[in-house]
Amino acid sequence: MSFELLKELTEAPGIPGREEQIRAIVERELKGIVEAVRVDAMGNLIAFRPGQARKPRKVMYSAHMDEIGFIVRFIDDNGFIRLNPVGGHDPRNCLIQQVQVHGKEVLDGVMTTSTKPVHVQTEDDRKKALAVDDLFIDAGLSAKEIRKIVTPGDMVTLKRETTRIGKRVSGKSMDNRTAVYSLIQSLKKSGANRDDTYAVFTVQEEVGLRGAQTSGYGVAPDIAIALDTTLALDTPGIEARDQITQLGKGVGLTVMDGSVISDHALLKEFEALAGKKKIQFQHNILPRGGTDAGAIQRVREGVKVITISLPTRYIHSSIEMIDWNDLAAKIDLLSAYMKG
Ligand SMILES: [Zn+2]
Repeated sequence: MSFELLKELTEAPGIPGREEQIRAIVERELKGIVEAVRVDAMGNLIAFRPGQARKPRKVMYSAHMDEIGFIVRFIDDNGFIRLNPVGGHDPRNCLIQQVQVHGKEVLDGVMTTSTKPVHVQTEDDRKKALAVDDLFIDAGLSAKEIRKIVTPGDMVTLKRETTRIGKRVSGKSMDNRTAVYSLIQSLKKSGANRDDTYAVFTVQEEVGLRGAQTSGYGVAPDIAIALDTTLALDTPGIEARDQITQLGKGVGLTVMDGSVISDHALLKEFEALAGKKKIQFQHNILPRGGTDAGAIQRVREGVKVITISLPTRYIHSSIEMIDWNDLAAKIDLLSAYMKG
């Protein structure tokens, strides 16, 4: 386990379609530990390690590299930057944030809306609903200065230092750099693998599982295992039956979500493996949301899939929180499966 690598992966910027900085870290980490690495037309990184079994199956692991963010839509004459969201944002999570605008150089900025300070708010002001469209960035420069550096289409990401808090880690992009981290560490830990292993670091998941669809088609696996985060709603005010998962109670095995029903035999296989290796796990069942597994399951003539998830609090915010032991459990389970 390396907090430094997780910190580097989570703090690095990479919205859908702009995953190049994450991909570079992955390539560096995989050097010498897989047989081949290639990048497809969409930007999915596909690493291959041959299996040792006499009749190896093709097993694809998928971890999306992208994070939710924004692109610059418009720069007004006062230098304020207006945005187009990329991925699912709750506007309340976007208020009062530090951001980075990735133009010809990286500019720091603050993101907020024109809500009046509490000193001058009326009753009606307090009731006004927030919308992502009302957000703007103040980068502390004039329109003329901004336009020299920033062009519509440039990427905007949240700026947040990843920190350890007690036994937890908090920061931006735990969704899904914890999975990128898990896949790298599992490849390192497992050494030789039973099956042909395709470790795929996918693009554009947050806008509809797009990279998984094409890489799933290209790899054509027998089995696919999507690695992602899942909701941990174990915070004040939420009843036990609605918590989905709890932080610190182990790795998540996804039974179903809005995109997929995990293959029943695979689910049982992972339950048995976790039991045998004494790895703590919990089931998660979500009414909505999806993972790469949803896209890969339906390529070609269909693929057996499962999602292995990491319980995460405050998902899709800049303070996403995970438990270090859950992350270790996820790596233990994945590397055990790879070994066979
Ligand atoms: Zn995700």
